[in-house]
Amino acid sequence: MPSVPTFRFAPSPNGALHLGHAYSALMNARFAAANRGRLLLRIEDLDRSRCKPEYEAAIRDDLAWLGIVFDGAPRRQSEHAGDYARALDALRACGLAYPCFCTRGALAAARAGRDPDGAPLYPGTCRSLSAREVEARLAAGARPVWRLDSARTRAAAPADLIWREFGEGETETRCVAEPAAWGDFVLRGRDVAASYHLAVVVDDALQAVSDVVRGRDLFAATSAHRLLQAALGLPAPRYRHHRLVLDAHGDKMSKSAASTPLRDQGAAAEDVRAALGFAPGAPRFVARLS
Ligand code: GLU
Repeated sequence: MPSVPTFRFAPSPNGALHLGHAYSALMNARFAAANRGRLLLRIEDLDRSRCKPEYEAAIRDDLAWLGIVFDGAPRRQSEHAGDYARALDALRACGLAYPCFCTRGALAAARAGRDPDGAPLYPGTCRSLSAREVEARLAAGARPVWRLDSARTRAAAPADLIWREFGEGETETRCVAEPAAWGDFVLRGRDVAASYHLAVVVDDALQAVSDVVRGRDLFAATSAHRLLQAALGLPAPRYRHHRLVLDAHGDKMSKSAASTPLRDQGAAAEDVRAALGFAPGAPRFVARLS
C-alpha cells in the first residue's frame, strides 16, 4: 500500500457528465482531501467506437467548473494498450485465459444465465478447444476475444477472497467476492485492447490507487476485480461504493438514459455542489440519492 492515500475518478468519455458523475467526483475529492491524499484522473477511453476527444475535453472542463483539481496529468487508457497486453500475457502463461471465437449471435442464443450487468453468461464453448483447433481458426482469419477461465482462476486464488468496503462512512465491512457470478468474462475484445475489468485492475495498480470510490452500480464488479488482482498478484485497494443520484423518475442517472448533462441543469456550480451535499448552506435544489 503506498504511503500517500491515492484516489481516482475514472470517467468514460462517451457522453456528457451528469449529476451522478459529479457526486462521484466530489466524493473522491472529499475523501482525498480528508486523507491528505492524491486525486488522479483516469480517462477510460478504450472503447474507440463510443469515446470521443471532444467528450473528454467537455468532461475536464466540467470537472474544473465544479472546482475539482487533480494531481498530475490524466492517464488515458487508449495510450496504454501495452500494459493490458502484458497482463493478458501473464494470465495466458498461467493457463488462465483462452481465446473465444463465438459470435455475438451464438452468445445471445446460449441459455447460460445472466451476469450482474444482465449480459448473457458465457457457456464455455471455447474453453476446451485444443491448441490445434485454435491454430486452425486463427489461420482461417478468425479474430478471437480473450476470456478468463474463471473457475480455474478462482481455484488458484486464496480461499478467502474478500475486499474491505467502507461505503460512504468509516465502518469497515469485509465483503466476500463472488466472481462466479461473472463466469468466463472477457479480458480483451476483438476491437478493444482490454475489457473494463482487466483495464481497471491494471490501472488501479499502476497508478498506486489505495482507495477506489465509485457508485454502487459497480459493487458487483468488484468481485471480478478481486479475482483478477489475486491472479495477477496486484494489491487490493480499499473500496467505497457510494449512493447513486436518481433522476426525476427515481432511476439511476446514466448517459444512456440521456440524463440531463451537468451544465444543462441551469444551475451554478455552487448550487450543484450544495444539492449533492458538498457545500455549506441550504441547497437551492435537492438531488435524490438511492
Ligand atoms: N469508467 C467507469 C464509469 O464511467 C468507472 C469505472 C470505475 O470507477 O471503476 O462508469
